[in-house]
Amino acid sequence: MKKFVCKRCEDCCIFKEEEEAPLVFYWEKERLEELALKRGSSLSFKEYLAVIESNGDRFTYIYKWIIDGKCVFLEGNRCTIHEEKPISCKMFPIIIEVPGNRMYLSLRCNWVRENAEQINPSNFPQIFDEFKIAVKVMGMITEFLKIASENAWKVEIIR
Ligand code: SF4
Repeated sequence: MKKFVCKRCEDCCIFKEEEEAPLVFYWEKERLEELALKRGSSLSFKEYLAVIESNGDRFTYIYKWIIDGKCVFLEGNRCTIHEEKPISCKMFPIIIEVPGNRMYLSLRCNWVRENAEQINPSNFPQIFDEFKIAVKVMGMITEFLKIASENAWKVEIIR
């Protein structure tokens, strides 16, 4: 069984549809905005998962990072913020469906398309080192939704 190896084709850093937009936690959004500002760029985000607390306050936990075309942090075929890139990028080609909390693979990834016949959900952990990151993220989202439920916060998913 072949292990996933990024082919450095950069396809996953070029976006054509809003539905491809990476989901980012609120603290990642803030950091990405800082990093973009340093290079004179601005980024675009839309709310994705927000809660309305019992006192009426609104808090956005997850945003969609709207990238039209090439990511501003991509130079050549290299991510210039590799160490600080958001978790969605770190676990690609694994994608998490929120709030369903299911894992699937992106067919935007050339390696996934070329090796599709050997992949099935039971061998994700052997093929993808990114699987561990995805499990951790699912746990974080589950925990947040549990807190929301315990506090009777209204959860909104904005698609
Ligand atoms: S942050 Fe880096 S890995 Fe993520 S889309 Fe941009 S260039 Fe690609």
